[in-house]
Amino acid sequence: MIKDNPEINCELAVIGAGMAGIASALFASKRGISTVQVGLTSGIIFASGLIDLMGVHPISDGKIWENPWKAINALTSDIPNHPFARINKDDIHKAFEEFLAFMNNAGLPYCRYENRNAKMIMPVGSVKHTYCVPQTMWNGVLALEKKCSCLIIDIRGLRGFSARQITETLKTSWPALRHARISFPNTDHLEEVYTEPIARCLSLSENRKALAQIVIPHVKDASMVGFPAIFGIHNSVEIYRDLQEMIGVTIFEIPTIPPSITGLRIKETFESQLPQKGVRLLLQKKVLKVHRNKGGFVLDIGGSDTEYTVKAKGIILASGRFLGGGLHADRKQIRESIFNLPVFQVGERKNWHSQNFLDPKGHLINMAGLEIDNMFHPLDSLGKPVFKTLFAAGSILAHQDWLRMKCGSGLAIASAFAAVNAFKKQV
Ligand SMILES: Cc1cc2nc3c(=O)[nH]c(=O)nc-3n(C[C@H](O)[C@H](O)[C@H](O)COP(=O)(O)OP(=O)(O)OC[C@H]3O[C@@H](n4cnc5c(N)ncnc54)[C@H](O)[C@@H]3O)c2cc1C
Repeated sequence: MIKDNPEINCELAVIGAGMAGIASALFASKRGISTVQVGLTSGIIFASGLIDLMGVHPISDGKIWENPWKAINALTSDIPNHPFARINKDDIHKAFEEFLAFMNNAGLPYCRYENRNAKMIMPVGSVKHTYCVPQTMWNGVLALEKKCSCLIIDIRGLRGFSARQITETLKTSWPALRHARISFPNTDHLEEVYTEPIARCLSLSENRKALAQIVIPHVKDASMVGFPAIFGIHNSVEIYRDLQEMIGVTIFEIPTIPPSITGLRIKETFESQLPQKGVRLLLQKKVLKVHRNKGGFVLDIGGSDTEYTVKAKGIILASGRFLGGGLHADRKQIRESIFNLPVFQVGERKNWHSQNFLDPKGHLINMAGLEIDNMFHPLDSLGKPVFKTLFAAGSILAHQDWLRMKCGSGLAIASAFAAVNAFKKQV
Protein backbone atom coordinates (compact mmCIF):
# COMPACT_ATOMS: atom_id res chain seq x y z
CA MET A 1 0.00 0.00 0.00
CA ILE A 2 1.30 3.43 -0.93
CA LYS A 3 0.21 4.86 2.46
CA ASP A 4 2.76 2.69 4.26
CA ASN A 5 5.48 4.21 2.14
CA PRO A 6 5.01 7.97 1.99
CA GLU A 7 8.31 8.40 0.12
CA ILE A 8 8.01 7.08 -3.40
CA ASN A 9 10.89 6.91 -5.85
CA CYS A 10 10.16 6.85 -9.55
CA GLU A 11 11.67 7.90 -12.83
CA LEU A 12 8.79 10.09 -13.98
CA ALA A 13 6.13 12.06 -12.14
CA VAL A 14 3.15 13.09 -14.25
CA ILE A 15 1.25 16.07 -12.87
CA GLY A 16 -2.35 16.03 -14.08
CA ALA A 17 -5.18 13.53 -14.46
CA GLY A 18 -6.74 15.01 -17.59
CA MET A 19 -6.33 13.59 -21.09
CA ALA A 20 -2.70 14.79 -21.32
CA GLY A 21 -1.84 13.30 -17.92
CA ILE A 22 -3.43 9.91 -18.53
CA ALA A 23 -1.93 9.66 -22.01
CA SER A 24 1.52 10.55 -20.59
CA ALA A 25 1.20 7.90 -17.87
CA LEU A 26 0.10 5.34 -20.47
CA PHE A 27 2.96 6.05 -22.91
CA ALA A 28 5.48 6.09 -20.05
CA SER A 29 4.29 2.74 -18.68
CA LYS A 30 4.52 1.21 -22.16
CA ARG A 31 8.15 2.31 -22.35
CA GLY A 32 9.00 0.68 -19.03
CA ILE A 33 9.39 4.02 -17.22
CA SER A 34 8.43 3.80 -13.54
CA THR A 35 5.73 6.43 -13.19
CA VAL A 36 3.66 8.17 -10.54
CA GLN A 37 0.63 10.15 -11.69
CA VAL A 38 -0.96 12.76 -9.47
CA GLY A 39 -4.01 14.93 -10.04
CA LEU A 40 -7.50 15.94 -9.08
CA THR A 41 -10.54 15.06 -11.15
CA SER A 42 -10.12 16.86 -14.44
CA GLY A 43 -12.35 18.29 -17.17
CA ILE A 44 -12.37 14.79 -18.65
CA ILE A 45 -15.61 13.98 -16.81
CA PHE A 46 -17.25 16.78 -18.80
CA ALA A 47 -15.89 15.54 -22.12
CA SER A 48 -18.07 14.14 -24.90
CA GLY A 49 -15.90 11.06 -25.35
CA LEU A 50 -15.12 12.16 -28.92
CA ILE A 51 -11.44 12.55 -29.70
CA ASP A 52 -10.75 15.56 -31.89
CA LEU A 53 -7.49 15.82 -33.79
CA MET A 54 -7.83 19.03 -35.76
CA GLY A 55 -11.07 20.51 -37.01
CA VAL A 56 -11.09 24.30 -37.40
CA HIS A 57 -8.48 26.68 -38.81
CA PRO A 58 -8.25 29.64 -39.01
CA ILE A 59 -10.52 30.27 -36.03
CA SER A 60 -11.34 33.75 -37.35
CA ASP A 61 -12.92 32.23 -40.50
CA GLY A 62 -14.36 29.20 -38.71
CA LYS A 63 -13.06 27.05 -41.58
CA ILE A 64 -13.96 23.42 -40.94
CA TRP A 65 -11.60 20.76 -42.33
CA GLU A 66 -12.61 17.35 -43.62
CA ASN A 67 -9.02 16.09 -43.47
CA PRO A 68 -7.36 16.71 -40.07
CA TRP A 69 -3.86 16.09 -41.46
CA LYS A 70 -4.29 18.78 -44.11
CA ALA A 71 -5.65 21.03 -41.37
CA ILE A 72 -2.48 20.43 -39.36
CA ASN A 73 -0.36 21.32 -42.42
CA ALA A 74 -2.21 24.60 -42.85
CA LEU A 75 -2.15 25.35 -39.14
CA THR A 76 1.55 24.72 -38.65
CA SER A 77 2.42 26.85 -41.64
CA ASP A 78 0.27 29.74 -40.31
CA ILE A 79 1.11 29.33 -36.59
CA PRO A 80 4.64 27.92 -36.43
CA ASN A 81 4.58 28.05 -32.63
CA HIS A 82 1.52 25.83 -32.36
CA PRO A 83 2.55 22.65 -30.44
CA PHE A 84 1.54 20.50 -33.44
CA ALA A 85 4.36 22.18 -35.37
CA ARG A 86 6.83 20.59 -32.93
CA ILE A 87 5.70 17.00 -33.50
CA ASN A 88 6.35 15.20 -36.71
CA LYS A 89 3.29 13.76 -38.41
CA ASP A 90 4.52 10.17 -38.13
CA ASP A 91 4.68 10.60 -34.38
CA ILE A 92 1.12 11.94 -34.24
CA HIS A 93 0.03 8.85 -36.21
CA LYS A 94 1.98 6.58 -33.85
CA ALA A 95 0.55 8.33 -30.78
CA PHE A 96 -2.98 7.66 -32.01
CA GLU A 97 -2.23 4.06 -32.94
CA GLU A 98 -0.79 3.37 -29.49
CA PHE A 99 -3.56 5.19 -27.66
CA LEU A 100 -6.38 3.57 -29.65
CA ALA A 101 -4.85 0.09 -29.35
CA PHE A 102 -4.84 0.55 -25.60
CA MET A 103 -8.48 1.70 -25.60
CA ASN A 104 -9.44 -1.26 -27.76
CA ASN A 105 -7.73 -3.75 -25.43
CA ALA A 106 -9.24 -2.04 -22.40
CA GLY A 107 -12.78 -2.61 -23.77
CA LEU A 108 -13.48 0.96 -24.88
CA PRO A 109 -12.86 0.72 -28.64
CA TYR A 110 -12.91 3.73 -30.97
CA CYS A 111 -13.57 3.96 -34.71
CA ARG A 112 -12.19 6.48 -37.20
CA TYR A 113 -11.51 7.21 -40.83
CA GLU A 114 -7.76 7.44 -40.86
CA ASN A 115 -7.56 10.46 -43.13
CA ARG A 116 -10.79 12.28 -42.59
CA ASN A 117 -12.90 13.63 -39.80
CA ALA A 118 -16.21 11.95 -39.04
CA LYS A 119 -19.43 13.92 -38.60
CA MET A 120 -21.26 13.25 -35.37
CA ILE A 121 -24.77 14.29 -34.30
CA MET A 122 -24.65 16.31 -31.07
CA PRO A 123 -27.32 16.42 -28.30
CA VAL A 124 -29.32 19.33 -29.70
CA GLY A 125 -28.92 18.65 -33.39
CA SER A 126 -25.70 20.39 -34.34
CA VAL A 127 -23.15 18.31 -36.24
CA LYS A 128 -19.58 18.12 -35.04
CA HIS A 129 -16.46 17.18 -37.03
CA THR A 130 -14.28 14.93 -34.93
CA TYR A 131 -11.58 12.31 -35.49
CA CYS A 132 -12.25 9.27 -33.29
CA VAL A 133 -15.68 8.16 -32.15
CA PRO A 134 -16.49 5.50 -29.52
CA GLN A 135 -17.62 2.30 -31.24
CA THR A 136 -21.00 2.63 -29.52
CA MET A 137 -21.52 5.92 -31.43
CA TRP A 138 -20.07 4.99 -34.81
CA ASN A 139 -23.36 3.86 -36.39
CA GLY A 140 -24.55 7.42 -35.77
CA VAL A 141 -21.79 8.64 -38.10
CA LEU A 142 -22.94 6.14 -40.74
CA ALA A 143 -26.64 6.98 -40.23
CA LEU A 144 -25.92 10.67 -40.79
CA GLU A 145 -23.87 9.94 -43.89
CA LYS A 146 -26.45 7.62 -45.45
CA LYS A 147 -29.47 9.58 -44.19
CA CYS A 148 -31.18 6.24 -43.65
CA SER A 149 -34.54 5.85 -41.90
CA CYS A 150 -33.64 6.55 -38.34
CA LEU A 151 -35.40 6.96 -35.01
CA ILE A 152 -33.91 9.04 -32.17
CA ILE A 153 -35.06 8.20 -28.66
CA ASP A 154 -35.80 10.89 -26.09
CA ILE A 155 -35.92 9.89 -22.45
CA ARG A 156 -38.53 11.65 -20.32
CA GLY A 157 -36.87 13.79 -17.63
CA LEU A 158 -33.40 13.75 -19.21
CA ARG A 159 -32.35 17.38 -19.59
CA GLY A 160 -30.00 18.71 -22.23
CA PHE A 161 -30.75 16.02 -24.80
CA SER A 162 -33.56 16.68 -27.23
CA ALA A 163 -34.42 14.11 -29.90
CA ARG A 164 -37.14 16.48 -31.07
CA GLN A 165 -34.62 19.27 -31.58
CA ILE A 166 -32.18 16.93 -33.32
CA THR A 167 -34.96 15.95 -35.74
CA GLU A 168 -36.14 19.53 -36.25
CA THR A 169 -32.60 20.74 -36.95
CA LEU A 170 -31.64 17.98 -39.34
CA LYS A 171 -34.93 17.16 -41.08
CA THR A 172 -34.38 19.32 -44.19
CA SER A 173 -31.33 17.31 -45.17
CA TRP A 174 -32.52 14.10 -43.51
CA PRO A 175 -36.25 13.57 -44.09
CA ALA A 176 -36.15 9.94 -42.89
CA LEU A 177 -35.27 11.04 -39.36
CA ARG A 178 -37.93 10.96 -36.63
CA HIS A 179 -38.08 10.83 -32.86
CA ALA A 180 -40.04 9.17 -30.06
CA ARG A 181 -40.21 9.91 -26.36
CA ILE A 182 -40.10 7.06 -23.86
CA SER A 183 -39.83 6.69 -20.08
CA PHE A 184 -36.80 4.78 -18.90
CA PRO A 185 -38.00 1.68 -16.98
CA ASN A 186 -39.15 2.47 -13.43
CA THR A 187 -38.64 6.22 -13.71
CA ASP A 188 -42.24 7.33 -14.45
CA HIS A 189 -42.49 8.90 -11.01
CA LEU A 190 -39.32 10.99 -11.43
CA GLU A 191 -39.32 14.53 -12.77
CA GLU A 192 -35.67 14.40 -13.72
CA VAL A 193 -33.41 11.51 -14.63
CA TYR A 194 -29.63 11.52 -15.08
CA THR A 195 -27.38 9.59 -17.42
CA GLU A 196 -25.07 8.11 -14.79
CA PRO A 197 -27.67 6.15 -12.75
CA ILE A 198 -29.42 5.07 -15.97
CA ALA A 199 -26.11 3.85 -17.38
CA ARG A 200 -25.30 1.94 -14.20
CA CYS A 201 -28.81 0.44 -14.25
CA LEU A 202 -28.19 -0.99 -17.73
CA SER A 203 -25.37 -3.13 -16.45
CA LEU A 204 -28.17 -5.51 -15.39
CA SER A 205 -29.55 -7.50 -18.31
CA GLU A 206 -33.14 -7.41 -16.98
CA ASN A 207 -33.06 -3.61 -17.24
CA ARG A 208 -31.81 -3.85 -20.83
CA LYS A 209 -34.68 -6.21 -21.62
CA ALA A 210 -37.16 -3.79 -20.08
CA LEU A 211 -35.72 -0.88 -22.10
CA ALA A 212 -35.77 -2.90 -25.33
CA GLN A 213 -39.43 -3.81 -24.76
CA ILE A 214 -40.32 -0.13 -24.39
CA VAL A 215 -38.38 0.89 -27.53
CA ILE A 216 -39.45 -1.91 -29.92
CA PRO A 217 -43.02 -0.61 -30.62
CA HIS A 218 -41.55 2.73 -31.76
CA VAL A 219 -39.05 1.25 -34.24
CA LYS A 220 -41.52 0.56 -37.10
CA ASP A 221 -39.70 1.25 -40.42
CA ALA A 222 -36.51 2.63 -38.83
CA SER A 223 -33.32 0.80 -39.80
CA MET A 224 -31.31 2.56 -37.08
CA VAL A 225 -32.14 3.81 -33.59
CA GLY A 226 -30.13 6.50 -31.78
CA PHE A 227 -30.09 6.85 -27.98
CA PRO A 228 -28.55 9.43 -25.69
CA ALA A 229 -25.25 8.05 -24.38
CA ILE A 230 -26.47 5.72 -21.61
CA PHE A 231 -25.00 2.33 -22.50
CA GLY A 232 -23.22 1.68 -19.21
CA ILE A 233 -19.90 2.81 -17.85
CA HIS A 234 -17.63 -0.24 -17.72
CA ASN A 235 -19.14 -2.52 -20.33
CA SER A 236 -20.62 -0.17 -22.91
CA VAL A 237 -19.87 -2.42 -25.91
CA GLU A 238 -21.54 -5.44 -24.31
CA ILE A 239 -24.64 -3.38 -23.42
CA TYR A 240 -24.76 -1.85 -26.90
CA ARG A 241 -24.54 -5.28 -28.60
CA ASP A 242 -27.08 -6.81 -26.26
CA LEU A 243 -29.62 -4.01 -26.77
CA GLN A 244 -29.03 -4.08 -30.53
CA GLU A 245 -29.81 -7.78 -30.65
CA MET A 246 -32.94 -7.38 -28.54
CA ILE A 247 -34.25 -4.37 -30.49
CA GLY A 248 -33.43 -6.02 -33.81
CA VAL A 249 -32.01 -3.00 -35.69
CA THR A 250 -28.68 -1.18 -35.66
CA ILE A 251 -28.37 1.19 -32.72
CA PHE A 252 -25.97 3.92 -31.61
CA GLU A 253 -25.33 6.49 -28.89
CA ILE A 254 -25.27 10.28 -29.22
CA PRO A 255 -23.18 12.36 -26.79
CA THR A 256 -25.10 14.13 -24.02
CA ILE A 257 -24.28 17.46 -22.42
CA PRO A 258 -21.72 17.50 -19.58
CA PRO A 259 -21.22 15.87 -17.16
CA SER A 260 -21.45 12.88 -19.45
CA ILE A 261 -20.86 9.20 -18.89
CA THR A 262 -18.64 9.11 -21.97
CA GLY A 263 -15.99 11.13 -20.14
CA LEU A 264 -16.48 8.99 -17.06
CA ARG A 265 -15.86 5.87 -19.18
CA ILE A 266 -12.46 7.18 -20.23
CA LYS A 267 -11.57 8.23 -16.68
CA GLU A 268 -12.57 4.90 -15.13
CA THR A 269 -10.88 2.88 -17.87
CA PHE A 270 -7.56 4.57 -17.18
CA GLU A 271 -7.96 4.44 -13.42
CA SER A 272 -8.46 0.69 -13.56
CA GLN A 273 -5.86 -0.07 -16.26
CA LEU A 274 -2.91 2.16 -15.38
CA PRO A 275 -2.15 0.52 -12.00
CA GLN A 276 -2.09 -2.86 -13.80
CA LYS A 277 0.62 -1.39 -16.03
CA GLY A 278 2.67 -0.38 -12.99
CA VAL A 279 1.63 3.29 -12.73
CA ARG A 280 1.14 4.52 -9.17
CA LEU A 281 -1.90 6.75 -9.05
CA LEU A 282 -2.16 9.45 -6.41
CA LEU A 283 -5.58 10.70 -7.40
CA GLN A 284 -7.55 13.43 -5.65
CA LYS A 285 -4.18 14.76 -4.46
CA LYS A 286 -2.34 17.91 -5.43
CA VAL A 287 1.29 18.73 -5.96
CA LEU A 288 1.79 21.29 -3.22
CA LYS A 289 5.43 22.11 -3.87
CA VAL A 290 8.33 20.96 -6.03
CA HIS A 291 12.01 21.21 -5.03
CA ARG A 292 15.09 20.44 -7.12
CA ASN A 293 17.19 17.53 -5.93
CA LYS A 294 20.40 16.11 -7.46
CA GLY A 295 19.39 16.49 -11.07
CA GLY A 296 15.80 15.48 -10.31
CA PHE A 297 12.78 16.67 -8.34
CA VAL A 298 11.11 16.15 -4.99
CA LEU A 299 7.36 16.66 -5.02
CA ASP A 300 5.28 17.30 -1.90
CA ILE A 301 1.86 15.79 -2.53
CA GLY A 302 -1.32 15.82 -0.50
CA GLY A 303 -4.64 17.51 0.20
CA SER A 304 -3.63 20.58 2.17
CA ASP A 305 -0.59 19.05 3.94
CA THR A 306 2.09 16.78 2.55
CA GLU A 307 0.98 13.15 2.61
CA TYR A 308 3.50 11.73 0.16
CA THR A 309 6.94 12.73 -1.01
CA VAL A 310 7.74 11.66 -4.54
CA LYS A 311 11.32 11.68 -5.80
CA ALA A 312 11.47 11.67 -9.58
CA LYS A 313 14.14 12.09 -12.22
CA GLY A 314 11.75 14.00 -14.41
CA ILE A 315 8.31 15.57 -14.56
CA ILE A 316 5.68 15.92 -17.25
CA LEU A 317 3.56 18.93 -16.40
CA ALA A 318 0.04 18.26 -17.71
CA SER A 319 -1.81 20.51 -15.29
CA GLY A 320 -4.15 22.08 -17.85
CA ARG A 321 -5.29 25.67 -18.15
CA PHE A 322 -7.59 27.74 -16.00
CA LEU A 323 -10.23 25.02 -15.46
CA GLY A 324 -7.62 22.40 -14.54
CA GLY A 325 -5.62 24.83 -12.41
CA GLY A 326 -2.34 24.75 -14.36
CA LEU A 327 -2.66 28.44 -15.23
CA HIS A 328 -3.95 31.21 -13.06
CA ALA A 329 -4.85 34.75 -14.14
CA ASP A 330 -4.37 37.59 -11.67
CA ARG A 331 -5.20 41.24 -12.34
CA LYS A 332 -2.05 41.83 -14.37
CA GLN A 333 -0.83 38.60 -15.85
CA ILE A 334 -1.24 34.90 -16.35
CA ARG A 335 0.88 32.66 -14.15
CA GLU A 336 1.81 29.00 -14.12
CA SER A 337 0.64 27.62 -10.76
CA ILE A 338 3.25 25.08 -9.61
CA PHE A 339 6.72 26.21 -10.76
CA ASN A 340 5.89 29.82 -11.60
CA LEU A 341 7.26 29.13 -15.09
CA PRO A 342 7.29 31.97 -17.62
CA VAL A 343 3.96 32.13 -19.46
CA PHE A 344 3.41 33.49 -22.95
CA GLN A 345 1.24 36.55 -22.23
CA VAL A 346 -1.42 37.90 -24.56
CA GLY A 347 -1.29 41.64 -23.98
CA GLU A 348 -3.30 43.81 -21.63
CA ARG A 349 -6.00 42.31 -19.44
CA LYS A 350 -8.72 44.40 -21.06
CA ASN A 351 -8.08 42.54 -24.34
CA TRP A 352 -7.99 39.03 -22.88
CA HIS A 353 -11.69 38.43 -23.40
CA SER A 354 -13.94 39.37 -26.27
CA GLN A 355 -17.11 41.32 -25.30
CA ASN A 356 -19.17 38.43 -26.65
CA PHE A 357 -18.71 35.35 -24.45
CA LEU A 358 -19.62 33.05 -27.35
CA ASP A 359 -17.48 34.91 -29.89
CA PRO A 360 -16.64 32.28 -32.54
CA LYS A 361 -13.24 33.94 -32.95
CA GLY A 362 -12.46 33.00 -29.36
CA HIS A 363 -10.77 34.92 -26.58
CA LEU A 364 -7.14 35.99 -26.74
CA ILE A 365 -6.50 34.55 -23.26
CA ASN A 366 -6.85 31.06 -24.70
CA MET A 367 -3.62 31.45 -26.65
CA ALA A 368 -1.62 31.97 -23.43
CA GLY A 369 0.43 29.15 -21.96
CA LEU A 370 3.90 27.68 -21.82
CA GLU A 371 6.41 28.22 -24.59
CA ILE A 372 8.26 25.00 -25.39
CA ASP A 373 11.12 23.74 -27.55
CA ASN A 374 10.97 20.72 -29.86
CA MET A 375 11.60 18.42 -26.87
CA PHE A 376 8.56 19.85 -25.07
CA HIS A 377 10.72 21.52 -22.40
CA PRO A 378 9.09 24.66 -21.00
CA LEU A 379 11.36 27.62 -21.79
CA ASP A 380 12.67 30.45 -19.65
CA SER A 381 12.60 34.11 -20.66
CA LEU A 382 15.80 33.61 -22.69
CA GLY A 383 14.26 30.76 -24.66
CA LYS A 384 16.30 28.05 -22.89
CA PRO A 385 14.82 24.92 -21.24
CA VAL A 386 14.02 25.68 -17.58
CA PHE A 387 15.14 22.18 -16.47
CA LYS A 388 16.57 19.37 -18.57
CA THR A 389 14.05 16.85 -17.27
CA LEU A 390 10.92 19.01 -17.06
CA PHE A 391 8.45 18.59 -19.94
CA ALA A 392 4.95 19.91 -20.60
CA ALA A 393 1.95 18.46 -22.45
CA GLY A 394 -1.70 19.22 -23.16
CA SER A 395 -3.73 22.35 -22.86
CA ILE A 396 -1.17 24.21 -20.74
CA LEU A 397 0.86 24.78 -23.94
CA ALA A 398 0.75 28.22 -25.60
CA HIS A 399 -0.41 29.23 -29.09
CA GLN A 400 -3.43 26.93 -29.28
CA ASP A 401 -7.10 27.39 -28.50
CA TRP A 402 -8.08 23.72 -28.41
CA LEU A 403 -11.74 24.37 -27.84
CA ARG A 404 -12.19 26.43 -30.99
CA MET A 405 -9.58 24.67 -33.11
CA LYS A 406 -11.25 21.35 -32.17
CA CYS A 407 -7.96 19.72 -31.28
CA GLY A 408 -8.38 19.11 -27.50
CA SER A 409 -7.78 15.42 -26.92
CA GLY A 410 -5.66 15.01 -30.07
CA LEU A 411 -3.24 17.65 -28.91
CA ALA A 412 -3.20 16.15 -25.41
CA ILE A 413 -2.40 12.67 -26.79
CA ALA A 414 0.19 13.81 -29.36
CA SER A 415 2.01 16.17 -26.97
CA ALA A 416 2.04 13.50 -24.23
CA PHE A 417 3.63 11.09 -26.73
CA ALA A 418 6.27 13.67 -27.68
CA ALA A 419 7.01 14.60 -24.05
CA VAL A 420 7.38 10.97 -22.92
CA ASN A 421 9.68 10.14 -25.84
CA ALA A 422 11.76 13.24 -25.09
CA PHE A 423 12.00 12.20 -21.42
CA LYS A 424 13.10 8.71 -22.47
CA LYS A 425 15.82 10.20 -24.68
CA GLN A 426 17.01 12.61 -22.01
CA VAL A 427 17.49 10.23 -19.08
C1 LIG B 1 -16.71 20.21 -21.39
C2 LIG B 1 -15.56 19.64 -22.15
C3 LIG B 1 -15.82 18.98 -23.35
C4 LIG B 1 -14.77 18.46 -24.08
N1 LIG B 1 -15.06 17.83 -25.25
C5 LIG B 1 -14.04 17.39 -26.01
C6 LIG B 1 -14.30 16.79 -27.28
O1 LIG B 1 -15.45 16.67 -27.72
N2 LIG B 1 -13.24 16.38 -28.00
C7 LIG B 1 -11.96 16.52 -27.57
O2 LIG B 1 -11.04 16.12 -28.27
N3 LIG B 1 -11.68 17.08 -26.37
C8 LIG B 1 -12.69 17.52 -25.59
N4 LIG B 1 -12.42 18.09 -24.38
C9 LIG B 1 -11.00 18.37 -24.04
C10 LIG B 1 -10.21 17.27 -23.39
O3 LIG B 1 -10.99 16.37 -22.65
C11 LIG B 1 -9.16 17.84 -22.42
O4 LIG B 1 -9.85 18.50 -21.39
C12 LIG B 1 -8.25 18.83 -22.99
O5 LIG B 1 -7.60 18.22 -24.04
C13 LIG B 1 -7.24 19.32 -21.93
O6 LIG B 1 -6.64 18.27 -21.23
P1 LIG B 1 -5.44 18.47 -20.22
O7 LIG B 1 -5.10 17.13 -19.70
O8 LIG B 1 -4.37 19.27 -20.84
O9 LIG B 1 -6.01 19.40 -19.03
P2 LIG B 1 -7.15 19.16 -17.95
O10 LIG B 1 -8.17 18.23 -18.43
O11 LIG B 1 -7.57 20.52 -17.51
O12 LIG B 1 -6.39 18.44 -16.74
C14 LIG B 1 -5.51 19.11 -15.89
C15 LIG B 1 -5.18 18.20 -14.71
O13 LIG B 1 -4.11 18.77 -13.95
C16 LIG B 1 -4.43 18.65 -12.58
N5 LIG B 1 -3.69 19.65 -11.78
C17 LIG B 1 -3.65 21.00 -11.92
N6 LIG B 1 -2.88 21.52 -10.92
C18 LIG B 1 -2.43 20.47 -10.18
C19 LIG B 1 -1.60 20.34 -9.03
N7 LIG B 1 -1.07 21.39 -8.41
N8 LIG B 1 -1.36 19.12 -8.55
C20 LIG B 1 -1.88 18.02 -9.13
N9 LIG B 1 -2.69 18.07 -10.22
C21 LIG B 1 -2.94 19.28 -10.74
C22 LIG B 1 -5.94 18.84 -12.55
O14 LIG B 1 -6.45 18.38 -11.32
C23 LIG B 1 -6.34 17.99 -13.74
O15 LIG B 1 -6.38 16.64 -13.36
C24 LIG B 1 -13.44 18.59 -23.61
C25 LIG B 1 -13.17 19.22 -22.39
C26 LIG B 1 -14.22 19.74 -21.67
C27 LIG B 1 -13.88 20.43 -20.38
